[in-house]
Amino acid sequence: MEHFYTLQGEGFYTGQAAYFIRLGGCDVGCVWCDVKESWDADVHPKMSTEEIVNIASQHPGRIAVITGGEPCLHNLEALCNALHAAGFRTHIETSGSSTISGALDWITLSPKKFKAPLDASMVQANELKIIVFNKSDFDWAEQHAAKVKPGCRLYLQPEWSKRNQMTPLIIDYIQQHPQWQLSLQTHKYLNIP
Ligand code: SF4
Repeated sequence: MEHFYTLQGEGFYTGQAAYFIRLGGCDVGCVWCDVKESWDADVHPKMSTEEIVNIASQHPGRIAVITGGEPCLHNLEALCNALHAAGFRTHIETSGSSTISGALDWITLSPKKFKAPLDASMVQANELKIIVFNKSDFDWAEQHAAKVKPGCRLYLQPEWSKRNQMTPLIIDYIQQHPQWQLSLQTHKYLNIP
């Protein structure tokens, strides 16, 4: 759908230079989705893995973030292999609702209520990122935290349109449950891609 060089705005790698590769196609259907134009893969141009990796390689950063849409609708083996061959770390942002493929160095799993994550994907996550849209999402976060592997980082992130209401609740929650950390969409505060 699009590809661009920026800083990772969210989660463990916040602030690090990264090349984002946003794949078209999503079958999850979040009501608050901020990239609904990604849902139909057919309306976006197709590029070869060689072409996209060559463009990404023109920048010095060597983190590639594969995102979407729901990138796990695609088989990512060839893309990950090509990125590794060019010296990139391969990161992915997924809802976990489809099987994860490819050699990935960092898996950000952000489960969605609209299509549940697979248990097999939950145990692969390096970071669990829960989008907090209302108060009931704290219980929902704990249900998912119980399914990840030991050492998986746990993040609570306010949904952007609810950030003024939810961020204070998240801060209180983390103070009482310090295994969690705050993640903010810093790229949106900074008005960068
Ligand atoms: S999974 Fe991501 S791209 Fe798909 S609907 Fe939800 S927020 Fe949008």
